[in-house]
Amino acid sequence: METSIIAQLAYLVSAILFVSGIKQLSSPATARSGNARASVAMLLAIVVTLLDNEILDWTTVAAAVIAGAVIGGVLARRIEMTAMPQLVAVFNGFGGGASAAVAAAEFVRLGGSGAGVELGAGVTIVLSTLIGAVTFSGSLIAFGKLQGVVTGKPVTFPLQKSFNALLFLAVLVVGAGLADAGVGDAVASIFGSGGIEIGVPFFLALVAGALMLGVLLVIPIGGADMPVVVSLLNSYSGLAAAATGFVLGNMMLIIAGSLVGAAGLILTQLMCKAMNRSLGNVAFGAFGTDGPTTKAKTGERPVRDVDAEQAAMVLAYAGSVAVVPGYGLAVAQAQHELKKVCDLLEERGVRVRFGVHPVAGRMPGHMNVLLAEADVSYDKLLDLDDINAEFDTTDVVLIVGANDVVNPAARDPASVIAGMPILDVDKARTVIVMKRSLSAGFAGIDNDLFYMENTLMFFGDARQQMSELVKEVREA
Ligand code: NDP
Repeated sequence: METSIIAQLAYLVSAILFVSGIKQLSSPATARSGNARASVAMLLAIVVTLLDNEILDWTTVAAAVIAGAVIGGVLARRIEMTAMPQLVAVFNGFGGGASAAVAAAEFVRLGGSGAGVELGAGVTIVLSTLIGAVTFSGSLIAFGKLQGVVTGKPVTFPLQKSFNALLFLAVLVVGAGLADAGVGDAVASIFGSGGIEIGVPFFLALVAGALMLGVLLVIPIGGADMPVVVSLLNSYSGLAAAATGFVLGNMMLIIAGSLVGAAGLILTQLMCKAMNRSLGNVAFGAFGTDGPTTKAKTGERPVRDVDAEQAAMVLAYAGSVAVVPGYGLAVAQAQHELKKVCDLLEERGVRVRFGVHPVAGRMPGHMNVLLAEADVSYDKLLDLDDINAEFDTTDVVLIVGANDVVNPAARDPASVIAGMPILDVDKARTVIVMKRSLSAGFAGIDNDLFYMENTLMFFGDARQQMSELVKEVREA
């Protein structure tokens, strides 16, 4: 397919918008405009591709665009903030599935008759199908685990890794047979079917093998590690799209796919670093096999608890307050009430800032999105290192639904979260922890912070308690 010079130029503009859009995502202040810029780039790329290739008639295109926009729009509006990881998983799966479907269509067009396709095209079709199908089935399992439809526990069986390795090898052999007629003939003769048309059966075997591989690679990983897996699958969906770009000879798809592939991989690495885990440990560690390692021993150790009035007094008479949001803030949707409390404190002259841990919540950037929703100014958001440098001069830390990211157990080499970089909140003069009970967080381990002398537990649902706090701080 020849691409016209105007289309090439439009693709170049799209690529520039994509790259600059991603660059803008690196700061919360410019993230929205980066997102909008990348969306415009995608729209431009789609329109130009459709016009340039006259691929489909306009009614079919309009029907697909309307159906996609309605499904995407309804899902995005209805989804709870806490269910974002599964939505991303489904989107990744669709991306991978679309790449595999395009590659399949191209295979049928070029050589589905079994006559074989030219080597270069064959390799890219096989890669696109393989990566796309693995991403599709793997993402559906990730979605199922996060949604509770599939068990969140790691599913393991004897010789699992060897079985997966063999299956991968078999898929590669089948793929090589498809991509190269010479290898195909050799493989077919091994199975005693030399001379027959091997194209379509081999292609179906490739798809089936890749789908199975996607399932088998994700089921041994615990539900708890799914966000990392989703990020990795996101990277795969980009690679599948890039491979499809080679299949179709479409430069835009290659650029966009490579950007997604690289960005997903970088994000995966950042998440692993923030949890002090290696990617190998996430993929093969079967983290969470036995559920929580240590149950919180409610009532065994004394804690000091406060009510809204007492918490308000401590906060209102502080000089500086650091707020640490966590997953519970997202569950309770307490961000707007939290913002009201912070505004009231600032009116009283209290210096307020927020300490955001890179893996607080269940998605990178989860807390930033929540706080942005409540119009918390970006310049008050400090990252791990910056806020850690301030805790020993901070009067009060208000922890809202965070647990693992403030757990001093990370400093103990024997702990399951050993080495995870944490927010050193225990260095502040007073710590107020707002959560419903002494229950453990995502990692399933008890938190010594709750029992420390300078810690006050403020039990209850974060939204309800935050509303109480608004009243009490106002009256303080
Ligand atoms: P945690 O999961 O450690 O703790 C959240 C706490 O919120 C719970 O202990 C719970 O306690 C409390 N909570 C739940 N609902 C409410 C509510 N309605 N009101 C008040 N409190 C509530 O969260 P963190 O944000 O501290 O840590 C994130 C964890 O997720 C880390 O272990 C991280 O490694 C992991 N993770 C994060 C990823 C990311 O990208 N962000 C990716 C993969 C993993 P209680 O039940 O007592 O209320």
